[in-house]
Amino acid sequence: MSEPLFNRIALIGLGLIGSSIAKAARAKGAAKEIVGTSRSDKTRARVKELGFLDEVMDTAAEAVAGADLVVICVPVCASGAVAREIGPHLIPGAIVTDVGSVKCSVVADVEPHIPDGCFLVAGHPVAGTEHSGPDAGFAELFEGRWCILTPAGKATPEATDKLRAFWGTLGSDVDIMTPEHHDLVLAITSHIPHLIAYNIVGTVADLETDTRSEVIKYSASGFRDFTRIAASDPAMWRDVFLSNKDAVLEMLGRFSEDLSGLQRAIRRGDGETLEKLFTRTQDIRRNIIDAGQDTERVDFGRRRSISSKKD
Ligand code: NAP
Repeated sequence: MSEPLFNRIALIGLGLIGSSIAKAARAKGAAKEIVGTSRSDKTRARVKELGFLDEVMDTAAEAVAGADLVVICVPVCASGAVAREIGPHLIPGAIVTDVGSVKCSVVADVEPHIPDGCFLVAGHPVAGTEHSGPDAGFAELFEGRWCILTPAGKATPEATDKLRAFWGTLGSDVDIMTPEHHDLVLAITSHIPHLIAYNIVGTVADLETDTRSEVIKYSASGFRDFTRIAASDPAMWRDVFLSNKDAVLEMLGRFSEDLSGLQRAIRRGDGETLEKLFTRTQDIRRNIIDAGQDTERVDFGRRRSISSKKD
């Protein structure tokens, strides 16, 4: 067997993503030792019970001691405070990365706390489920999914290559882009779809009781899939919208204009415009299936009974 890529990986945050990285890295032998910490006593106690880490520390400062890879796995607005705590305890040559769904704000918040001689290569595994916490993690989460790395000021090609190899070991394909480009692309592919889901499910929540029970009864006709997305962690998604404000507002503007166009077509009985759009969108769906990002099955790509890949 080849040498592990890292001696010691420290995970800061042990929810869905942190615990999945731990399980995947352990399954693939990516490090000699995998340690971590979480903010609450409750989560730390649960991780000890689950036993997927070599050691669970009480603080982030303790966890990063001796680690040559540190992965920050907390909601994006908390990344700066974590970096401030760990900065003075990083060993020379340590690579620091994260998994946040927004990249510009994370790079801006984390970079000032990374000492000279250490490297920051921010990242985002485009894989997830609507479930949270350490029980939700599983080793196969990243298999066949993209991981986007957004190296900026405190990254080097060597550190970026090593992190690319790490995500490859976990089963992901890796893409490199700027933090700005990442935030624009993810605004339309992930953040706006979540906002639409939160909005439509919120609209139903406000309906009268009779209508609401029928919506739930007939939910398989489309609504059900919005509810899955809208069940995602509230704190995580609050942070995404607060920290990717500009790109989300830009894409939301375009979305609103297009929606007004559809409203006009419906009012005017303009079936040609509607059909033309629905044909173009069928092509996009076909391209996603051809690219292996989903399957033809009616359950929208759910591979497991309790969770489904998304972000
Ligand atoms: P999660 O399951 O809710 O876990 C969040 C973790 O962050 C927990 O360990 C929690 O600690 C800790 N935490 C929460 N608030 C904190 C704070 N203010 N300060 C310090 N630690 C805090 O969330 P997750 O799904 O793993 O998401 C983690 C990151 O991954 C987020 O940045 C998210 O954008 C990104 N991401 C998520 C998905 C997804 O689909 N879920 C996909 C890709 C990337 P306690 O449990 O101890 O309170």
